Amino acid sequence: MIEMDKIVSLCKRRGFIFQSSEIYGGTGSCWDYGPLGVELKNNVKRAWWRDCVQSRGDMVGLDASILMHPRVWKASGHLDHFTDPMVDCKVCKGRFRADKLEDARCPQKPSKQPGQHDACELTEPRMFNLMFKTFIGPVEDDAAVAYLRPETAQGIFVNFENVQQSMRLKLPFGIAQIGKSFRNEITPGNFTFRTREFEQMEIEFFVMPGTDEEWHQRWLDERFAWYPKYGIRKENLRLREHEKDELAHYAKRTADIEYLFPMGWSELEGVANRTDYDLKQHAQFSGKSLEYFDEESKQKIVPYVIEPSAGADRGTLAFLVDAYHEEEVKGEKRVVLNFHPELAPIKIAVLPLLKKNGQIVETAHKLCADLRKRWHSVYDDTASIGRLYRRQDEIGTPFCVTVDVQTVGDDKAAADGKVTIRDRDNMQQIRVPLTSLTSVMEKLLDGGWAEVHGQHGVTRG
Ligand code: ATP
Repeated sequence: MIEMDKIVSLCKRRGFIFQSSEIYGGTGSCWDYGPLGVELKNNVKRAWWRDCVQSRGDMVGLDASILMHPRVWKASGHLDHFTDPMVDCKVCKGRFRADKLEDARCPQKPSKQPGQHDACELTEPRMFNLMFKTFIGPVEDDAAVAYLRPETAQGIFVNFENVQQSMRLKLPFGIAQIGKSFRNEITPGNFTFRTREFEQMEIEFFVMPGTDEEWHQRWLDERFAWYPKYGIRKENLRLREHEKDELAHYAKRTADIEYLFPMGWSELEGVANRTDYDLKQHAQFSGKSLEYFDEESKQKIVPYVIEPSAGADRGTLAFLVDAYHEEEVKGEKRVVLNFHPELAPIKIAVLPLLKKNGQIVETAHKLCADLRKRWHSVYDDTASIGRLYRRQDEIGTPFCVTVDVQTVGDDKAAADGKVTIRDRDNMQQIRVPLTSLTSVMEKLLDGGWAEVHGQHGVTRG
C-alpha cells in the first residue's frame, strides 16, 4: 500500500490539492483543490449525480442552504447528541477523541524501546459538540445563533413536503444533494480524509414502512458496486456492519463501505436505515404534518428513510490512492495515475513532436482546439516527448496525441494526415487518420482500446 506522503506530495506538485492559506503558514485541516483537483472532484460528483439522480426514474435533486433555522438541529438531535468524547494528555497537552486513541503516544514520555513513546496520560472524557456556531445578522446574541450544517441530510428532510408535492412523487422515491458540511472535528487529519469543511453526496430514499430493510440492502449493494465501476479495486473495499451499541440514535441498521486507505480500513460511505425518525421529529418540532397519503391504502403514513451518505472528498482521495502506481520502465521510475477516463481531470494531451516546426505546432494547436469542444484537452510543448508523456502519466491523462513530421509532410515526403495516439496504461501506440480522430477517441474513452488497437496497430514501442 502506498504511503499518504507520496499522494500529498504528488497532489501539491501537480496541482491537485494545496494546503489552505499556505503562504500564511497554512490552516490546519483545510485544503484547496487546485486546477486538476477541482476537475477530478467535479468528475466524481458528476458521475455520482448522473448515476444516482439522472439515470434513475425514482430520484430528484436538491440544493438546500447551509444555514438553516436553529430549531432544525434541536429536532434532528444534533444539538444534544452530535458530540464526540474529548480527552487531553496531562503531560503533552495533546487532544484526542476518546474513541480513537491510536495516536495517543506522548512525545514527552520516551519508552524503553528506542524511538517509541509511552501512552499519554489522559483526562476523563468531556463531550464536545461538533457543530460550528455563528450568528445571523449584526447582533451576536442567543436569538441570532445559527449553525453551519454538519450534514446535508436535514436540508432534505425539511423540504420533504415541498419536493414531494411540487414534483408529485410517489413512494418509493429519493432526494439527492451534494454540498458542503462542517464539523469541528477534534482530530482532523490524514490529508483530506477528515477535515472540518468537506463535501457530502447524500441521498434520502423514502420508502413504505415494511419495505425499508429490503431497500436498505438494495442501496448497500448499489453503492458498493459504484466504486469499482470507476476503477476502485474490489479487494480494497469492504462492508462493515455497525454493532448495536455503535448505531446512531436514529438508526435501525447501518453499514459502512470502507476503503483500504494508506492509514488502514476507513469509512468511505455510510448507508443507514434512519427509519421515520427525522420526519417525525421535524413534524413534532415544526408543528407541520410531514405525512404521505398512500392512494392504495387511503392512509396517511410517515415514510421510512434509507440514507446512503458519501463524502466527495473521501471518495476523491480513494480514487487518487487507488489510481497511484509506480513502475519501472526501461530502467526508469514511472509514476502513473490509472484514473478511469470519466474521472481523469484531463482526457487528452496534444503534443507536437518538434516544436520548431511551425506546421506541426499549428496542426497540433488546431487539433487541440477541436478536441476541446468535446473533451477537456491540453496542449503541451514545453519538454521532450518522453518527459511530456511522463507528465501526463503522472496526472492520469488517458491518451496523448502526437503530431509529427509524417502528419504534416515535408520536402522529402508527403503528409499522411495521421497522428499517433498513446495509451497511458499499456503505453502502446496506434496511428489514426486525423479525419477519424473524434470517432476513435469516443471509442477509446469508452474503454475500447483493444478494439481500436486491433484496427490500427502499433507504430512504435
Ligand atoms: P467518521 O466516523 O469517519 O467520523 P461519520 O460516521 O461521522 O464518519 P457520517 O456522519 O456517516 O460520517 O458522514 C457521511 C460521510 O461524510 C462519511 O462517510 C464521509 O465520507 C463524509 N465525512 C464525514 N465526516 C467527514 C470529515 N470530517 N471529513 C471528510 N469527510 C467526512
